[in-house]
Amino acid sequence: MIFDKYQPRVAYFCMEYGLNEELPIYAGGLGILAGDILKSAHDLHLPMVGIGILWQEGYTSQFINEHGWPYDRPASYAPELLQDTGVTVHVTIRGDEVPVRIWKVDSFQNAPLYLLDTAVPGSSYDWVTRRLYGGTSHDRIAQEIVLGIGGVRALEALGHTPDVYHFNEGHAVLAGIELIRRKKAMGMTFREALEATRREVVFTTHTPVMAGNEEHDLELLEYMGAFNGLSWEEMEQIGGDPFNMTVAGLRLAHMANGVSKLHGITARAMWSDKEDRAPIVSITNGVHVNTWMHPEIRRAYEANRSLWEPHMEAKQELLNAIAKRTGVRLNPKALLIGFARRAALYKRPGLIFQRMDIIGPLLESGRIQLVFSGKAHPQDEAAKRQVSKIAEITKQFPQSVVFLENYDMALGRLLTAGCDVWLNNPQRPLEASGTSGIKAALNGCLNLSVLDGWWVEACQHGVNGWQFGGGYEGPSQTKYDSASLYEVLLEDVIPTYYEHPERWRKMMVESIKSTYYRFSAQRMLIEYYNIMYQPSRTAKLLAEEIDHILATSLR
Ligand SMILES: *Cc1c(COP(=O)(O)O)cnc(C)c1O
Repeated sequence: MIFDKYQPRVAYFCMEYGLNEELPIYAGGLGILAGDILKSAHDLHLPMVGIGILWQEGYTSQFINEHGWPYDRPASYAPELLQDTGVTVHVTIRGDEVPVRIWKVDSFQNAPLYLLDTAVPGSSYDWVTRRLYGGTSHDRIAQEIVLGIGGVRALEALGHTPDVYHFNEGHAVLAGIELIRRKKAMGMTFREALEATRREVVFTTHTPVMAGNEEHDLELLEYMGAFNGLSWEEMEQIGGDPFNMTVAGLRLAHMANGVSKLHGITARAMWSDKEDRAPIVSITNGVHVNTWMHPEIRRAYEANRSLWEPHMEAKQELLNAIAKRTGVRLNPKALLIGFARRAALYKRPGLIFQRMDIIGPLLESGRIQLVFSGKAHPQDEAAKRQVSKIAEITKQFPQSVVFLENYDMALGRLLTAGCDVWLNNPQRPLEASGTSGIKAALNGCLNLSVLDGWWVEACQHGVNGWQFGGGYEGPSQTKYDSASLYEVLLEDVIPTYYEHPERWRKMMVESIKSTYYRFSAQRMLIEYYNIMYQPSRTAKLLAEEIDHILATSLR
């Protein structure tokens, strides 16, 4: 049995949603996961609604200037994508009553998404929802008041009565503070209100990088109005001082999850010293197959036909897009390796260039071709330097290395369907899941990846892709990982591509076979419903059960 008869109604909270490139209110994997979840909820007819923010300037559109440096422009979208619900709620920021309008989006085959917006005519708080991840901590807290507190009020005003509040990442935890305030107003003590709130809340954590777990001084939270009627002591009990949004999420929820098996283990170790926190299970991310699988590749796979022709079709679509954007005509017969990611130091986009004496001749001879894409956060200079370094390398190998500006979902689709190999070399264990590799695998684009995130569970080396490096965590990790990458590339990937096409095609089939259901958003959502949203089973027991299964399956 997949589902119990009774399906809890779920309100899913997230700061960003990647439903489609036409609505650029996402920055990366977190938002795309949220978008894929709402689409699968729609496919499976599950009672879920999303709560998010209408970012007036979107995230960022990013291009490279004549000095090779990334610069940003606001993104835009067509207003027709939004329906005005006519509903306005209010939140209090710095003592001011701030009106928040609510829009609805349901035109991407998704469960309804409600977007909160402070750009109300006449309001001086229009800046709050201007730009995703822009501004200072002050701005961020204001945004989190809108998402969390405004989100709970919006649900009520719209007539929704969720059984479960799912906070995707710490950005939404002020929703828990609002749920507690309401219960106290009905006469419960703080303890009772916290316990009752916990029974309604589940939490997903995403960040194994300590610094990526957002913290704010309690004083600033109080000044901004995030206490929402709670006392200093009560807030401190929930998130500490400084108030850690992830810790708060873990204490406001009765059940939490990491986004892959390895990440669950990492997260449990990371937060093991925090008392009164929810047990953390693992639910591995999946992607929405309809969105990410090339229709021709899918048709061929489902009919047991050769994948090579549709693959070459998808590759040519990508090469045409590359030619159009960069003027470079890559060779469709030569091995094409893709790497596209949000720029972050731990993802190490330059790893393959560690030894120019090895990689240089392969690029000059046209044996391999590389296509890169990725955006840096507008305020992250180190990440921008990383992007500009890759842009610099394209000048050294103008016929075999290209960089595509303004990475978005449309480019993500083209790249993961059209490359031959998908390269992924994070510093293990910092890639909590990663989903671009799943998109690639679904299209028969073979993963060449460090054993991190989802790939730990999927990889059958030499059967559905390859693994390298990653086993050594220390000061020489980068050297070790690049040496290992060259070894697999030279001894297995390149010879297989050019000399054993039959084996390559078999690997493509295996790649799709091992991801088609197991790493689909559908499977992920079914697990959310069966494990996270199930009020009838005690969370702790279940978590122990899962820990036991994990411990045995990972040895
Ligand atoms: C899939 C996707 C991501 C997330 O990919 P990761 O492998 O998790 O980095 C980010 N941005 C875009 C545009 C995507 O399509």
